[in-house]
Amino acid sequence: MRTITESARQIPVVSETEVLVAGGGPAGIGAALGAARAGAKTLLVEQSNAPGGMATTGLMSHWSGSRESPLMNEIVERMAKSPSLPQEIQALTEADLKWSISHECQKAVLFQMLKESGVTVQLYTMVTDALTENKRVSGVITESKSGREAIRAQVTIDATGDGDVAARAGAEYLLGREEDHRCQPVTLMFRIGGVDYSQAVFPGSFESYMNIPKGEIQALGKQHLPHPAGHVLLYRSRLPGEVCVNMTNVTDIDGTDVRQLTKAEFICREQIDAIIQFLREFVPGYRKCYLVAVAGNVGVRETRHFKGVYTITAEDIVEATVFPDWIATRNYFNFDIHSLVGPGLDKHGAQKEFKARGMYTIPYRACLPEKIDGLLLSGRNISGTHKAHSNYRVMGICTSIGHGVGIAAALAVKHQIQPRAVDPAEIQKQLLACGVQV
Ligand SMILES: Cc1cc2nc3c(=O)[nH]c(=O)nc-3n(C[C@H](O)[C@H](O)[C@H](O)COP(=O)(O)OP(=O)(O)OC[C@H]3O[C@@H](n4cnc5c(N)ncnc54)[C@H](O)[C@@H]3O)c2cc1C
Repeated sequence: MRTITESARQIPVVSETEVLVAGGGPAGIGAALGAARAGAKTLLVEQSNAPGGMATTGLMSHWSGSRESPLMNEIVERMAKSPSLPQEIQALTEADLKWSISHECQKAVLFQMLKESGVTVQLYTMVTDALTENKRVSGVITESKSGREAIRAQVTIDATGDGDVAARAGAEYLLGREEDHRCQPVTLMFRIGGVDYSQAVFPGSFESYMNIPKGEIQALGKQHLPHPAGHVLLYRSRLPGEVCVNMTNVTDIDGTDVRQLTKAEFICREQIDAIIQFLREFVPGYRKCYLVAVAGNVGVRETRHFKGVYTITAEDIVEATVFPDWIATRNYFNFDIHSLVGPGLDKHGAQKEFKARGMYTIPYRACLPEKIDGLLLSGRNISGTHKAHSNYRVMGICTSIGHGVGIAAALAVKHQIQPRAVDPAEIQKQLLACGVQV
């Protein structure tokens, strides 16, 4: 590839903060609230126009994975009290009702929580590089309407999902699964309206087989939807007649490559029309459905897995390991590995067949890049195998990880030490005081 040399230039240092959180998705929200509530001067930098990441801008249907976390419960309970929700909630089960996301109300609640906790938020800003001195991150470079700027920070938390800061800082990582670096497929979420809830069906997993008048629903999807789409995943929402659709599917996309992301966006947009036609023709209750909203970005399930001081394995999850340096507890989910070649579940995935001894914890060491200082990982980019990641990548668990990592960053600032020198017992003391249980 041809290259050019950019000329050196001076850029303004626009902020100096104690804790900088790059990315405002579930992991970044948890981290920013954790750090600010623990007393650190905290700045959250987010590329889009709202906090929440996949939970809001990504139009995700529901929060999974860490349903006993006090912070998660605060996030969803406050959303449920939003004055902007419809006054009559349609037929939702007790569990759906609590964890189902009303995207705009959820954004509003996250804005409120960040403001109340004293987090400074900077939106519309892409973190493009890490400031590094001798393998130590001391802040980031950003690009925005205001141009290229620098922000200095005592501790930087990478909650970008893809680990953009850690990658630019030179932290070691593996892309996708170990043997061939292929990543899970990507999906552009969307919401439809005009669904008749009195008739509608809601298959919620790949193994939700249902006989509907024209045949079995998953088989019909595979037969009639454009490959590699083909599974039928539909989720109730709080909005009358609206349903969240998780059915577009594009395989072999590297979510850290902008041209591949663009290609995926085009393919998903074409699939949406076909999916709506399919739902109208085959699925009870959807005869009059129409498109309401499409996510602000393609949902990327998997990209970089960084090399941490510890790497979480599938066995740790199955064995329900309680690590001595736990920072996120009571996590439970399945091995949600989507097929890498078409619709449905990969042969290594386990949804209904998933078995574990109980709930597991996340160790602090998995959030510490092995060789880079000044930096913590939060969310789906922490250190874990492809299979383990398919479990802890869900939003509830990412939020809980963020909570612990944010507190750790605040402690590093308080004691003026590197994150790797923070005593996990001190993080745990603060988490327990917040109501976290082991
Ligand atoms: C299609 C799909 C369906 C899923 N279904 C579910 C489900 O039902 N329930 C569930 O709990 N989980 C689900 N997940 C998993 C979950 O959504 C993600 O794994 C989770 O959101 C990861 O959280 P995160 O905070 O690490 O990353 P993200 O949610 O991706 O948040 C990253 C944030 O960082 C911002 N950002 C990224 N790069 C930069 C940068 N360089 N500079 C500034 N900002 C940046 C992004 O805009 C975003 O706000 C699903 C994922 C996908 C893709």
